[in-house]
Amino acid sequence: MMDVPLLVPSLLRHAAEFHADTEIVSRTVEGPIHRTTYAETHARVQRLANALVALGLGAGDRVGTLAWNGYRHLEIYYATAGAGMVCHTINPRLFPEQIAGIIDHAEDSILCADLTFLPLLQGLAGRLGTVRAIVVMTDAAHMPPQAEGLPPFLCYEALLAGQPAEFDWPALDENEACGLCYTSGTTGAPKGVLYSHRATVLHAMASAMPDVFAIGAASVVMPVVPMFHVNAWGIPYAAPMVGAKLVLPGPKLDGASLHALITAEGVTFSAGVPTVWMAMLDWMAANGRDAGPMKRVAIGGSACPAVMIERFEAMGVSVLHAWGMTETSPIGLAASPKAKHQGATPAQRLALASKQGRPLYGMEFRVVGADGQDVPRDGTAFGRMLVRGPWVAAAYHAAPDSPAHATPGWFDTGDVVTMDADGYVAIVDRTKDVIKSGGEWISSIELENIAVAHPAVQEAAAVARPDPKWGERPLLVVVLRPGASLTNEEMRAHFEGRVARWCIPDQIRIVEELPHTATGKLLKSRIRQLYAQTADV
Ligand code: ADP
Repeated sequence: MMDVPLLVPSLLRHAAEFHADTEIVSRTVEGPIHRTTYAETHARVQRLANALVALGLGAGDRVGTLAWNGYRHLEIYYATAGAGMVCHTINPRLFPEQIAGIIDHAEDSILCADLTFLPLLQGLAGRLGTVRAIVVMTDAAHMPPQAEGLPPFLCYEALLAGQPAEFDWPALDENEACGLCYTSGTTGAPKGVLYSHRATVLHAMASAMPDVFAIGAASVVMPVVPMFHVNAWGIPYAAPMVGAKLVLPGPKLDGASLHALITAEGVTFSAGVPTVWMAMLDWMAANGRDAGPMKRVAIGGSACPAVMIERFEAMGVSVLHAWGMTETSPIGLAASPKAKHQGATPAQRLALASKQGRPLYGMEFRVVGADGQDVPRDGTAFGRMLVRGPWVAAAYHAAPDSPAHATPGWFDTGDVVTMDADGYVAIVDRTKDVIKSGGEWISSIELENIAVAHPAVQEAAAVARPDPKWGERPLLVVVLRPGASLTNEEMRAHFEGRVARWCIPDQIRIVEELPHTATGKLLKSRIRQLYAQTADV
């Protein structure tokens, strides 16, 4: 066979050639909806690649982005990768010190920023030592004045205007890096994961398959998950690969704005974390709207509660619960049913869809107990989940003291899981979040999923509270829906019959809001610190 490397620029080239007029629709930070096509995007990507080279960037150089999901961000993905550079997507929700730290660690030569993120950059004035210029992702009309203490501002559209629409693509090795993303730091300082062209293309192929995103040239795909969160789960690569229309929601991720785009653009498939969908479902319920053209939604990043699956499916939207992490590009598991589940009862189907899923081809999984031996695949025995595969990180970027893999050749996910005989994995918890009561383990995720099924509950976190007798006991910290009320007794009654009695939280604590990580997950360490040290409830 021919030895043809798997390269990211080939994805867009394919789309430009065979899906030339397929649209990319973006909600811009400047306001209006912007429409372009794969063919136009390919031309602009070449202008941008020429501009980056003209700025003195070369192979391996890092280009940082602080940007929402939009067409210019997509262009940066492809221009950098095609020119052999590395697109470093920065999560703007990290703390400013973390942002300055990762820009420095990544040695970003240039930063590309949406207008909305200029105040954030202003706060980093004097701390962007490696950065030679800031490319403001806008046109001349919206260009802000140069800010004091920051590298020179350049106008994105002015840079493109001066360049030809043909770029001399270099021959690249498929194992070279094209992207860089730092973990959100829930388990310590952010760590960088470099994605190779090969990993990115293989992951895109796997993610488009029928049991995963199930997207093709007839699909209209809207990644709600940000392009700064593990490359929007690879959708910016999978969509051009299959020729799907792409809808990029920009900064507006509230229920009304997302629903408006879904309806106006005919979105058939979307993907995002549970928090975003909870808000959209509530908005739809409050405004009497249905899901319109949407047929399928992928939910992951944190556990998708069963009640969310029920609410979507009641509107004819099939839910794909999926699991992944920054280190795994991200997708590793997806919870599609098998043929043998066709006769399953609704309750059985819901139980299956609530699991994190079974391995995609390419990903290998092991579940090991405390003794390092594989636990039985019976859906009950649990252990640490180890993974390996062509889109799993072998080490962290520029981290010589990266923890060596405890089990050679395998990456320890830090998730405690069960796997059943069919390969379906259920996450019990993250190793550090599990509640250890009287020698038994209680899954905080299970308690949270049950809690949010109560109509008064908007969001819930279950954390371990130190207990002199049991070691730890679960504490439930709850945010109520507007106007709702809830007593300890009502909550305990809601748990009766849904979980073993000794797992039921003794106490609930009602709070105004819960702290989240930069990727929208519950920040368990902070919640423990805030509420689990004291017993005053
Ligand atoms: P970070 O590790 O910094 O939180 P990631 O986005 O890489 O950032 O998070 C990966 C983790 O998110 C996984 O190890 C797992 O604990 C959790 N996670 C991802 N998807 C799911 C899911 N569907 N259900 C439960 N937990 C999930």
